[in-house]
Amino acid sequence: MNLCDLAPSYVSAIAPYQPGKPISELAREMGMAEEHIVKLASNENPMGASPRVLAAIENALMDIARYPDGNGYDLKSALAAKYGVAQDQIVLGNGSNDVLEFAARAFMSPGTSAVYSQHAFAVYPLVTQAVGAKGIEVPAKDFGHDPQAMLAAIAQDTRVIFIANPNNPTGTILSSNALASFLEQVPSSVLVVLDEAYYEFLPENLKPDSVNWLSKFPNLVVMRTFSKAYGLAGLRIGFAMAHPDVAAMLNRVRQPFNVNSLAQVAALAALQDVPFLEQCIEVNRKGMEQVTQAFNRLEISFIPSFGNFVSFRIGNAMGMYQSLLKQGVIVRPVANYGMPEYLRVSIGLEAENTRFLQALEAGMQEQI
Ligand SMILES: *Cc1c(COP(=O)(O)O)cnc(C)c1O
Repeated sequence: MNLCDLAPSYVSAIAPYQPGKPISELAREMGMAEEHIVKLASNENPMGASPRVLAAIENALMDIARYPDGNGYDLKSALAAKYGVAQDQIVLGNGSNDVLEFAARAFMSPGTSAVYSQHAFAVYPLVTQAVGAKGIEVPAKDFGHDPQAMLAAIAQDTRVIFIANPNNPTGTILSSNALASFLEQVPSSVLVVLDEAYYEFLPENLKPDSVNWLSKFPNLVVMRTFSKAYGLAGLRIGFAMAHPDVAAMLNRVRQPFNVNSLAQVAALAALQDVPFLEQCIEVNRKGMEQVTQAFNRLEISFIPSFGNFVSFRIGNAMGMYQSLLKQGVIVRPVANYGMPEYLRVSIGLEAENTRFLQALEAGMQEQI
């Protein structure tokens, strides 16, 4: 018997996550200089990290021989103060993907199920399948979540519902009212994971009051990340806020030192640099305008997005993806999200957006 044949069938059936192509890889493949390449494929922050973050990391470097604070005391204190929750309501993760996995491992097993939407973030089916649970994918409505259909899809054995708001890769949102009404109707025995990775990019009037809902819905987990607006994707740090009992359950399956010491000090410094965060949000707002105005001019249809990325329709998506690569621009194919005619582009700095748009126009000429 081959060792690998003995792995659970739900593990061997996992289709690996397809990340955005790294700059170094394209440089190698095409013999291109890295400086010539524009990567708009992973919704990273084009502004980089705040100078205060870089200083904090430098300061913490001499301590890397020591284990990090496994309880993340300083960061949790700052988060608790910022969000008005207790420290025991916070769970830190090696990226919020780590916390998504805690939700799956703590609450699901073979014989249970998770509900999520068509075109929703690819990590939900991955973490569900990895624990041998069944994924129930609910058809999307206009590319977004359909709360009524998701409620109707809840089965006896459903333990977790995943909702991305805004969603990646569609950029769609549910209104605050729709979400609140959804939460009212979900049985209290089902955990609702509200993944708000792009929350900071929402205009104030569209930000749901999700953290305040925690006191009303003990089955709610609100998830945030430092990877996007805060610019710390490479350090891997995110967190969840939940009822203390749920947080304790999630912490049980967490590795003791899952968040490294540099990520902890970086996140703390990032929280404190509000002007930098605001600047990043403004750069994104302007960049989104630049890119979508150009789409309109080029008569390219796109899904209006509330994140730092936008998915646009292009008949021969893989052909265009390749054409852009040849021109040194990396975007993201989303065929694996059930959107074979779309590409997703992250919003970059103005000059990066311009490079992308020029390459796109050149690619369109080629395809005619
Ligand atoms: C980028 C993203 C995350 C964040 O992942 P990290 O592990 O924190 O880097 C979470 N959810 C969605 C929907 C995302 O697009």
